[in-house]
Amino acid sequence: PSAMREVAVDVPSVSWSDIGGLENIKLKLKQAVEWPLKHPESFTRMGVQPPKGVLLYGPPGCSKTMIAKALANESGLNFLAIKGPELMNKYVGESERAVREIFRKARAVAPSIIFFDELDALAVERGSSSGAGNVADRVLAQLLTEMDGIEQLKDVTVLAATNRPDRIDKALMRPGRIDRIVYVPLPDAATRREIFNLQFHSMPISQDVDLNELILQTDTYSGAEVIALCREAALLALEEDIKAKCIRRRHFTQALSTVTPRIPESLRRFY
Ligand code: ATP
Repeated sequence: PSAMREVAVDVPSVSWSDIGGLENIKLKLKQAVEWPLKHPESFTRMGVQPPKGVLLYGPPGCSKTMIAKALANESGLNFLAIKGPELMNKYVGESERAVREIFRKARAVAPSIIFFDELDALAVERGSSSGAGNVADRVLAQLLTEMDGIEQLKDVTVLAATNRPDRIDKALMRPGRIDRIVYVPLPDAATRREIFNLQFHSMPISQDVDLNELILQTDTYSGAEVIALCREAALLALEEDIKAKCIRRRHFTQALSTVTPRIPESLRRFY
């Protein structure tokens, strides 16, 4: 049985408009991934090499995965996704084979994007993990070989995401490999406004809800936490009255005390 059964090729259904804010990041990725594929002659003319690999890094729950999916979808690229930890949990030798297999599949359906989520689990700096060290080293070596074999402009772009940029092996970040780095930060006030608006679109929000106040109250919340807050407020409204017609300010106030920002202290210094 193939170790790669779980890696499906698909075109995800996420669009840029599903992602609130982050216009700058959306543009950077279009420039890096979509433009070279759509206008290769322009890049050749300008003497510019498009990146083979892009690393998205930043706190959890801030839409790195969504961005990767939207990029694949909107540029019409096939999308193959794999989580670092899944790859590492294989039998001896299987992990490297799995890496080879992903790239083989990606080339077969090119132009395509391979998305490595939680890359840190897979590309840990050599010698930094005790015990599992050998597997990690071999997987990294395989990844480097595959990246060096990618032909520019026309086939496969590697996109990776991590919360721990410090853990990624430096060899993987050299020019010609994953050499473009994009920081996806916690949502600022304007971005939180967009995320709330996207949510409110499909929720019956009472007139007494003050969006400006909510934006101020959710400083340091991730996008995922803003969404969790809206959901919690809706559930509280239903808890109060299962026939409730709208979500009120008091439901949000109550939800704010249970849905709190949860970026672990240990991670904070990286952002
Ligand atoms: P992790 O590092 O935990 O994998 P991530 O950065 O990849 O997180 P996603 O899985 O893409 O984050 O985002 C989690 C969820 O948060 C998304 O499914 C989406 O519902 C929501 N979300 C986060 N940021 C935004 C945003 N800017 N606009 C809309 N939804 C968002």
